[in-house]
Parts: sequence; structure tokens; C-alpha cells
Amino acid sequence: MNNPQTRCGWCDHATVMMPIEHEPIIQHEGDPHTDALGWAVFTCAGCGAASLAQGIYPKLGRPGKVYTHDFVPTAWYPQSPLVKEYPASVPAGIAKVAAEAHGSFSVGHHQAAVLMARTTVEAVAKAKGILQGSLVAKIDELYNQHLVYEHVRDAAHEVRFVGNDAAHADLVDNPISEEEATAILELMDMVLDGVFIAPAKTAAQRAARQTKKAAAATGTTTSTPTAASTATP
Ligand SMILES: [Zn+2]
Repeated sequence: MNNPQTRCGWCDHATVMMPIEHEPIIQHEGDPHTDALGWAVFTCAGCGAASLAQGIYPKLGRPGKVYTHDFVPTAWYPQSPLVKEYPASVPAGIAKVAAEAHGSFSVGHHQAAVLMARTTVEAVAKAKGILQGSLVAKIDELYNQHLVYEHVRDAAHEVRFVGNDAAHADLVDNPISEEEATAILELMDMVLDGVFIAPAKTAAQRAARQTKKAAAATGTTTSTPTAASTATP
């Protein structure tokens, strides 16, 4: 099979795709003379992640026989990095860095993932107006201002500790494991949930309750459709 060039949906780089040898995966055979529609598996020469290509298995004028090595990809999956998405309550800039942490992790870049998680926690403190002091002081201040629960504060400290390790050269000899990076990303998400997501959900519920209450109260005074349709907003 040839080595098609495309943009890798995992690492987002223009790359060469390396074919994995396998039997043709036919999606639609067509009539004996028509080229078959099917799938093939490749790995990215850059990040090593596997991608699925949809494409054409040519029959080259030989009815009923497809040619695996002449597979022509027409579409690639995934088409974009499978990154975590955050609700709108997380500020866009912070959501981007946090998503990048997950994106780095998804292609096995654990050190980059942990550094991004550390950056995210620092940005959370900054977004709450906490600009002074070391990262540890900022995290403590988030807790002191009742912006995070105690267990979230402890989680933030864990993110900071490993984040510091990730910035040091001795990491070359002692790399961050997948398990460690997984734990750190979970902790980072706990911080985002505690500071942005959970409070926004609570606020939305409160607003919905007050709207309902107000609508019920209004309903008793504007009982006719005419009154409602002529009412000024
Ligand atoms: Zn790649």
C-alpha cells in the first residue's frame, strides 16, 4: 500500500500515513466491475496514532478482485483532534489550554499534558484576580476566597507538584507515567469544575427558578392573551 500524505487528525500535523497490513475492509462492493468503497487503517509517521481512512479499493479492470495496495483514501477519521470540550462557563482562553492538556495526553505527550495542566491552574487563579505570589499562594487564596472546596484545593496542589516536576530536567530520567498524567488531568478538571462549571450550573438553576416564580406571579395579573400580546417588554 502506498504512503498517502494528509493532515493527522490526532496531532494536527501534515504527515505521511503508514499503512497497516490487513485484509480489505469493504463497505460497498458495487457491481463486479466497479471499484469497491471501503476502509483502511494507517498510523501517523509523526505521532504514531492510528487513523481510519475511507476510500476506494480499485479493481483495475479485473472484476471481483480488489487491490489493497492501490487503496485511494478519500476521507480520514478522526478529522480533528479528539479534545475535551468545556462548557461556556469556563473562560475561552482557559478552556483552550485545558483542552490542549487533554489533546497532548491523547497522543501520549504526558509531560506536555502535565505542564498544560499546571498552566491551566495558574490561569484559573489569574482569572479570579489572584495575581500575587507563587502558584502555591494563589491556590491557597482560591481556597481562602471560598472559590474552591478543600478537596479541590488539595487537587490543585497535586497538579502544581507534578507540574513543577515536569519542568525540571531530571524528568528525562524519570518521565511522567500515563497513570500520573491521567490523575493530574482529572485534578485539573476538578479545579475547573469547582471554580467555573459548578457555580455556573447553580446560578443557572437559580435563574430558572426565579424566572418560573416571576412567570407564575405575572400569570395572576395578565390573565388574557390580549394583555400579554400588547404588553411592552
Ligand atoms: Zn499524528
